[in-house]
Amino acid sequence: MVLVFAEHHGGTFRKKAFEAVQYGAAIAQRTGGSCTAVVVGAVDEGMMASLGQYGAQTVLHAADDRLKDFSARAYTKVIAAAAEKVGAKVVVLPHDYMGRQVASRVAARLKAGLAAGVISHPDTANGFTVRKSVFAGKAFADVSITSDVKVLTLTPNTFAVSPAADGKATVEKLDVALDAKDFGVTVKETKRQAAGTVPLSEAELVVSGGRGMKGPENWGPLEELASALGATLACSRPVADSHWRPHHEHVGQTGGTIRPNLYVAVGISGAIQHLAGVNASKTIVVINKDPEAPFFKAADYGIVGDAAEILPRLTASVKKLKESQS
Ligand SMILES: Cc1cc2nc3c(=O)[nH]c(=O)nc-3n(C[C@H](O)[C@H](O)[C@H](O)COP(=O)(O)OP(=O)(O)OC[C@H]3O[C@@H](n4cnc5c(N)ncnc54)[C@H](O)[C@@H]3O)c2cc1C
Repeated sequence: MVLVFAEHHGGTFRKKAFEAVQYGAAIAQRTGGSCTAVVVGAVDEGMMASLGQYGAQTVLHAADDRLKDFSARAYTKVIAAAAEKVGAKVVVLPHDYMGRQVASRVAARLKAGLAAGVISHPDTANGFTVRKSVFAGKAFADVSITSDVKVLTLTPNTFAVSPAADGKATVEKLDVALDAKDFGVTVKETKRQAAGTVPLSEAELVVSGGRGMKGPENWGPLEELASALGATLACSRPVADSHWRPHHEHVGQTGGTIRPNLYVAVGISGAIQHLAGVNASKTIVVINKDPEAPFFKAADYGIVGDAAEILPRLTASVKKLKESQS
């Protein structure tokens, strides 16, 4: 039996939730069990049932009003209770802000072994072994979990998501006794990202800037290219650390992991820690004035030149192409 934490944001599931459910369902299929998703907080019932398209047979829904804002203690209690209810042998969570905080607590409650940041399906031929990347993406570690119950956090965007044309999960209510001390933090305000932008973790087209952009005042041409392509903006870590761009745009080992169809990297050297978050992109285009920049080795297309010169020309070409197609 496999339990998957299907995380949602304001009632909407994102790709990482579908990916985790699909991953959990694949394990269930291989081990001869079934896959249950647990949803915490208010989500439309039809939307929960649609997790069936990703392989969940059942959805356990904890709808307590107090769960609308994330609380690591309360979410831990709910997920552990769900795991106990279904007798889960494997619990899967996304390796993200919530999953990282909750997984170790759930593992402690269930006396389970934990593998965090998993990037492979488990090898069950001889025990239960999963792969994760270590040393800033320079190496892989194959981790064997020997406990009866296993908790895994799955690195988002590791696997492509492919829903079945139909499939409906049964939604059941999950009641868990929660008390005031499970809600130690009160959320006073939630600020949403600008409307209309595809979140980075879901984006199929990404335009990203590095320290080679020289300063936040030079982001205009990058924004214009992103807008012409309909792409989401990203950046390297030093750019976010210098407050040139917000931290949620930072990709790499310590930032988001993305898997777009197109990743355009401008003024980014291509350090291993950056590549760790973007090298699953289908097509990588690198613009850098240094022909020796390491990123060119990982690129499908490379342009050697000054970003200030190349970007407006590229944007103009994209616009022209789009006009000719409309
Ligand atoms: C533990 C750890 C974790 C890390 N995690 C991350 C992470 O998650 N994500 C991340 O990005 N980094 C991460 N880093 C930092 C990483 O090692 C690099 O320092 C960082 O990625 C470099 O950012 P950059 O390429 O923007 O800057 P730089 O290395 O300074 O590169 C700038 C590039 O811009 C080019 N350039 C300069 N001017 C122009 C121009 N006018 N036009 C075109 N190109 C130009 C230069 O040739 C150069 O290649 C981490 C480091 C450590 C130690």
